[in-house]
Amino acid sequence: GADRTKNVLILMSDTGGGHRASAEAIRDAFKMEFGDEYKVFVKDVWKEYTGWPLNDMENQYKFMVKHVQLWNVAFHGTSPRWIHGVYLAAIAAFYAKEVEAGLMEYKPDIIISVHPLMQHIPLWVLKWQGLQKKVIFVTVITDLNTCHRTWFHPGVKRCYCPSEEVSKRALLDRLEPNQVRVFGLPVRPSFARAVLNKDDLRVELELDPVLPAVLLMGGGEGMGPVKKTAKALAESLLDKETGKPLGQMVVICGRNKSLASSLESLEWQIPVKVRGFETQMQKWMGACDCIITKAGPGTIAEALIRGLPIILNDYIPGQEKGNVPYVVNNGAGVFTRSPKETARIVAGWFSTNKDELKKMSENALKLAQPEAVFDIVRDIHDLAAQRGPLADMPYTLTSSFSNLT
Ligand code: UDP
Repeated sequence: GADRTKNVLILMSDTGGGHRASAEAIRDAFKMEFGDEYKVFVKDVWKEYTGWPLNDMENQYKFMVKHVQLWNVAFHGTSPRWIHGVYLAAIAAFYAKEVEAGLMEYKPDIIISVHPLMQHIPLWVLKWQGLQKKVIFVTVITDLNTCHRTWFHPGVKRCYCPSEEVSKRALLDRLEPNQVRVFGLPVRPSFARAVLNKDDLRVELELDPVLPAVLLMGGGEGMGPVKKTAKALAESLLDKETGKPLGQMVVICGRNKSLASSLESLEWQIPVKVRGFETQMQKWMGACDCIITKAGPGTIAEALIRGLPIILNDYIPGQEKGNVPYVVNNGAGVFTRSPKETARIVAGWFSTNKDELKKMSENALKLAQPEAVFDIVRDIHDLAAQRGPLADMPYTLTSSFSNLT
């Protein structure tokens, strides 16, 4: 009946670009807003990514040849523009199998894609299974500004865009206005709703209570010129005349263990905290005054919520490039690849150029959209309510992909 728990399947991939962070944000927001009304499954479609598909090309190839129908759809007629070459086709075939397995296992009422390559195949699998009218399929885009066209598929019920710029692109790319919503990038509720006091956080995190603090990081994987920047900062934040520090530094290395241990082995002239993967990023950001990071959408959206001016020092080509003008053109930060320049800017912000730091912090707060994730899950909830109870889902699937070993 109508009270049945609804299943939500979130398709993500742990290959950077903030997809995992966004997927987990959506999951947590469903839980906070609707409790047991929804059961949310986050499925990492490419979890076998390491080494794959090169270590398994033969099976993948056999798989595709066996499933001529998939091969045909992938390459002809309805051919999505995004399939270039066998490599992508192999990936597509691989995750078609994963998606179908997900459909069978989780019986989703709602599918949420947070990945640029996960619209065409899942929608096609739904169609093939005669489920496209029964399952609500939505896309949550995690690129802030320019984004790849593979995000846009006219077959989705909703396409949630993090910014007006992205929504313009969606409309240009054949989506109808009623499919597009602009709420912002989903950020973990623990972040968005945190009530934090900087002084208390500094005590809790054992930071100097008064010195201005810079947070240095490089996404979940600790990427970018972190080590060089840390060294340059240690120099620029030391007042040569008095021998006293102008500021302190927190370096969060994420999953990059060798970065953490190599930074820990160094001697520092200013107060420095080196950390590995932190689960309470909202606290570290809340305790600092500015941030240096590669242009990851998750980190940027979080920093904006905390009102941190941002120095972007790197981006992953393609997917993260557009995040740079989003920050810079909105006056919430600057871009430079040079560790020396970065160090000079931070030293300025902490001494003679405090006004700029303050102004950028205000601009960051103006851009922040802490409620985005709640707006998204509420909108999905409304869609599900309109669709009514789906008690008798015909999940007796044609086992098109199941003969594989
Ligand atoms: N993050 C974290 N702990 C860490 C390092 C990073 O929770 O120690 C989070 C960070 O807060 C952000 C995400 O990991 O939510 C990184 O996403 P982003 O889009 O910035 O870059 P990605 O690593 O996905 O390329």
